[in-house]
Amino acid sequence: MRSVWRYIHTARNSYAALYAACETYGFTLEQVDVPEGDVVCYSLNSIEFPRYKDEIAAADQITIVGGPHASAAWEEVARVADYVVIGEGERTLPRLLSALEIGTSGASLPGVATKTGGRNKIDHSIRLDGFPCFTRIKGYIEISRGCPFHCGYCQTPHLHGTKMRHRSREEIVKAASHYRDARFVTPNAFAYGSIDGKTPDVEKLERLLASMPNNNIYFGTFPCEVRPEFVTQETTDLVVQYCTNTKLHFGAQSGSNTILTKIGRDHTLEDVYAALDICRIAGLEPIVDVIFGFPFETDEDEEATLALIREVVRSGKVHVHSLMPLPGTTLSNVVPREIIPAVDRVLGKLALNGCITGTWHNKFD
Ligand code: SF4
Repeated sequence: MRSVWRYIHTARNSYAALYAACETYGFTLEQVDVPEGDVVCYSLNSIEFPRYKDEIAAADQITIVGGPHASAAWEEVARVADYVVIGEGERTLPRLLSALEIGTSGASLPGVATKTGGRNKIDHSIRLDGFPCFTRIKGYIEISRGCPFHCGYCQTPHLHGTKMRHRSREEIVKAASHYRDARFVTPNAFAYGSIDGKTPDVEKLERLLASMPNNNIYFGTFPCEVRPEFVTQETTDLVVQYCTNTKLHFGAQSGSNTILTKIGRDHTLEDVYAALDICRIAGLEPIVDVIFGFPFETDEDEEATLALIREVVRSGKVHVHSLMPLPGTTLSNVVPREIIPAVDRVLGKLALNGCITGTWHNKFD
C-alpha cells in the first residue's frame, strides 16, 4: 500500500510530526502535489479546507483528512473524505493506515470519523516524548501542547486539550542539535515547564535555555509567541541573556477590558501595557496581535484598540487581524462586525507607514 501526504504549505509542521510518527510504525508518507498512490493524507485548517474539498471528493484514492478543521467540523469533512482523523494524529493515523493495509475498515477506530459510521471517541492523549517532533522531514521543535485558557476565537484547547503537556528538556536539546537556528512551537513559550500552564516556571525556563546546544535560539517570537501576563522582568531577562531574537511577540487582542472579558482572554489591558513597559526596559521590540470584528464590540471598544495600537507602535509593531469565527470555538457562529470607517482610515495610514501589518476586514465577505 502506498500512502502519501498531500503537501500544503500551512501544514508543513504537521507533516514533519506525522511523517516521524508514521515512520515509527513502518509507514513512509511520501510528499505529493496531487492525489496519487493508494491513500492520500491531508491536514487542513478552516481557511484551506474550501480550497481542497473538491480535490478530496474527486480523488480516486482513499482519502484521510485531519487537522484543526477536520477535528472541529468532522461531519462537513466526512461528506468529502473517506476518513476523518479527529484530534492528535500521531497514534490515530498509523493505526488507521495499519487497518487499511490489511484490508479492513478503520471506521471503528478511536479518534476516527466517517460519513456513515459517525465519530468514535478518542481514547488517548499523546505524551510528547513518545514521538519525535521530526525525523527526515524537518519542522519546528514542538515544546508544549495544549492550553489551559479558553479564548473564544481559538481552536487550540479544543484540538489539543486544556492540560499543557511539555516535551522533556533532553528531547528538546536533542532536536535542537539538528539546527543552527532553533525555533519552537507552543501555545505560550513562557509557559514551558509550568504544571498548570497559567504561571511561568522561570527555573525550568532557564534550565531549558541554558541547556541548548550552540544554536541561535528564537524564543517568544514566531512561531512561539507568549501571553502578555507572562512577560515579566525575569522572563525577558532570560530572552536577553540566552536568545538571538530582539523581538517579543504576544497577543493583546483588544484594547478594551470589556472585550477581553467577553472573549475569555483571562488577562487585562493593564497586563498588556505592563508587558510593553517591560519590553522597553529589556530592549525587546514588542510585536503585538490585535483582533477587530467581535460582534459585541462597540465603536468605543474599537477606539480603545486603536489607542493601544498607537501606544505599541511607539516602540514596536502590530499585527492586525479580523475575527475568524472558526468551527469548534465559542465564537463559531457569530457574524463579525465590520470595522468603523474612522478606525479603518487610521489603520490604513499606519499600514502605509509600515507600523502595522495584517488585514482587518472580514475575510468571509
Ligand atoms: S489564543 Fe493562545 S492562550 Fe488563548 S486559548 Fe488559544 S492558544 Fe491558548
